[in-house]
Amino acid sequence: MPAFAGMGLDRASTLRADPAWVARMLAEPATRFIGAGNEGVLVDGADTPVLVRRPLASSPAADAGEAILLGLEDGAALFAVDLETLDSDALGRFAGAGRSVHLRDAGAILPHAEGGLAAYLMGLLNWHRRHRFCANCGAATVIAEAGYSRRCRACGATHFPRTDPVVIMLVEHAGKVLLGRHAGWPPGRYSALAGFVSPGESLEEAVVREVREESGIEARDPFFVTSQPWPFPSSLMLGFHASSDGGEPRTNDDELEDVRWFALDTIRAAIAGDTSRLVLPTPISIARFLLGRWAATAG
Ligand SMILES: [Zn+2]
Repeated sequence: MPAFAGMGLDRASTLRADPAWVARMLAEPATRFIGAGNEGVLVDGADTPVLVRRPLASSPAADAGEAILLGLEDGAALFAVDLETLDSDALGRFAGAGRSVHLRDAGAILPHAEGGLAAYLMGLLNWHRRHRFCANCGAATVIAEAGYSRRCRACGATHFPRTDPVVIMLVEHAGKVLLGRHAGWPPGRYSALAGFVSPGESLEEAVVREVREESGIEARDPFFVTSQPWPFPSSLMLGFHASSDGGEPRTNDDELEDVRWFALDTIRAAIAGDTSRLVLPTPISIARFLLGRWAATAG
C-alpha cells in the first residue's frame, strides 16, 4: 500500500450529519484534536513519531457549528484544528513539545496509518481553507456535516471536498518501462509519467493521452493498479500499468526535460541501492510503489 493510504479512522459518515451528536462529541473527555498548518502536521515523539493528539483542555475552544470531525478512533472522536487560525499563544499551548513536520516528511517517518491520517487531515483542511466562498454566487459558506461539506446560505448550494484525479503510469515494452524527468529534479532521478484527468475523459483515455503528449509513445491496454491520496493540495493519484509497441520517446512539450526507456535490471539495481544509472522517485511516492511492484513481478 502506498504512503498516505491506509487511514484507520471510522469516518462516521452518517453520525456526522447530526449536529447534536457532534456537539456531544466535542464535549466528551475522550475526544482529541490534531492540528496542521499550511506547512505541515504537528508530530511528537522521537523514536516512534505520531501525530500530536490534544484533549479539549489544551485545544482552542471549538464551536460545534464550525468543528471539523475527522472520525472515530477506538470510539473516541478526533477533530481537526487548523493551526493557521490560532494566535501565537493558542498555537504554543496546542503545539506543546510537538513539532511541525512537512507532510512529505511525515509520510516517510510516521507509521503507515498515521501517515494516512496526516494526509486526510491536510487534505480536508486544504479544502476548507480554499473554499470559504461559494463557487456559485460568491457568498461566504459555512461548514456542514461536521466538515464533509460546505453550504451556501445565500443560494442553497452545497459544496463537497474537491479531489483532483491524476493518472500516473508505467508503460512497458520488451522488459523496459518509460520514465521521464523534470528539470530541477536531483541528478539522475526519473519517475513515472503523470497528468491530470481532463473533463470528459476516462482514466484509461487520460493514460493514453498523457503518455502520447509527454513522450510521443502510444500506450495501450492500461489497467488500474492502485491509488494514493496526494493532498498537495488535493490530488488523488491513480496508478496504472500499460503496454506499448515501443518506439523512440521524445519530449514534445515543455513539461519534461528527458524521457527514456529503462530496463528491468536497471530498475532492480536502483531499488537495491545502485544509483549510478537511475535515481528512483521518493519512497513515499506511488511511482516508487509501481516500480517496486513491477520489478518484483516482471519476468
Ligand atoms: Zn452560493
